[in-house]
Amino acid sequence: MTNDESMHASGAARPKTMLVKHADVLVTMDGARRELRDAGLYIEGNRILAVGPTSELPSTADQVLDLRGHLVMPGLVNTHHHMYQSLTRAVPAAQNAELFGWLTSLYRIWAHLTPEMIEVSTLTAMAELLLSGCTTSSDHLYLYPNGSRLDDSIAAAARIGMRFHASRGSMSVGQKDGGLPPDSLVEREDAILADTQRLIETYHDEGRYAMLRVVVAPCSPFSVSRDLMRESATLARHYGVSMHTHLAENVNDVAYSRERFGMTPAQYAEDLGWVGADVWHAHCVQLDAPGIALFARTRTGVAHCPCSNMRLASGIAPIRRMRDAGVPVGLGVDGSASNDGAHLVGEARQAMLLQRVGFGPDAMSAREALELATLGGAAVLGRDDIGALAPGMAADFVAFDLRQPNFAGALHDPVAALVFCAPSQVALSVINGKVVVQEGRLATLDLVPLLERHNALAGALAEAARGA
Ligand SMILES: [Zn+2]
Repeated sequence: MTNDESMHASGAARPKTMLVKHADVLVTMDGARRELRDAGLYIEGNRILAVGPTSELPSTADQVLDLRGHLVMPGLVNTHHHMYQSLTRAVPAAQNAELFGWLTSLYRIWAHLTPEMIEVSTLTAMAELLLSGCTTSSDHLYLYPNGSRLDDSIAAAARIGMRFHASRGSMSVGQKDGGLPPDSLVEREDAILADTQRLIETYHDEGRYAMLRVVVAPCSPFSVSRDLMRESATLARHYGVSMHTHLAENVNDVAYSRERFGMTPAQYAEDLGWVGADVWHAHCVQLDAPGIALFARTRTGVAHCPCSNMRLASGIAPIRRMRDAGVPVGLGVDGSASNDGAHLVGEARQAMLLQRVGFGPDAMSAREALELATLGGAAVLGRDDIGALAPGMAADFVAFDLRQPNFAGALHDPVAALVFCAPSQVALSVINGKVVVQEGRLATLDLVPLLERHNALAGALAEAARGA
């Protein structure tokens, strides 16, 4: 940004009008997938009024951002995360395990989480996501030890300025009942449902441009009961909120489903009412052909998490087949303990590369990977106001500086380069019409003390687990 006015922009306030001009390339993700040269946006409040070549836009606004040398695109959408796990990255005992072994090593540490740890780790995870181009994220918090509440995550999102789908996760089947989690980490089902209802009534905003929505999200078939899955669906549909869980993550997950329920994960989901346009499932690495057909028919969404799937050796999700069948697919970085580096452009890159490993060199293009990260994620979260830059859409966009070394030699196709080359950090991020990242730095909070506190808490958490 070279424009004087942009240098003085504050992350604290939202201007009445904003003009973005002279972007080298602007990726719209609109119906025609237009990519415009020397282009920009005109924004009023929190929504886009006009998109087009700089010469066709108004000449000024309260805040003007000259984005010469940048690629501008819709803010990326993350559909699956467990932000608290930022406190337990690269834990030695869980570095080389598959899903169930990995979870078992970590549960005993997570049992010592506190409300402050939830808030600080959520801020840290959001900062990392924001700097990688994400403007809307879901977070799946499913354990609430020591007085922790989803309110702790919600407070973090408001403070940092991220658009947020807060998923009220839950676990109710502990080891004594044949589940995977320790009994100390599970909650009573009536308490789960009552708290979920409280959160929806307190926070859920169903309106267009909502900054905060609440999602009903029992953790997984191996940690909650059939009853809780059903009652959660009833509650979610009563309030018209989305539903989210983990499904068919690996072969052991499928074996558990067959053994305990006598069904494949997809059959189990259908039996419980967990299919429909208001539902999205994380992973689905082992979703079979009838499952893919079911998801396509019912518009059930999938959060694809390629890095996590590789980290835990879960397999290669059949995203090509899902997309061809018409299943809505978004991207998720997944929790920081199974993808220790949360970077949403990096995730798009891995999605492209991993489909090629599984299904050939034309299995996914760079542009399709970016579509998953924007429009795909928006559809999965049930939103038609984010994921594209067009009149009437939310003013959520990001800019990448094309003058960085990782783009050198690829400027004939900067859009593909964003995915093919090493993942970039954003230069600028605007959410709901407000600057959240400027000059590559967070504008809404001071990162240094946050990370110091985060690292101190990560140490305290490890210490508490050792002493237990
Ligand atoms: Zn997960």
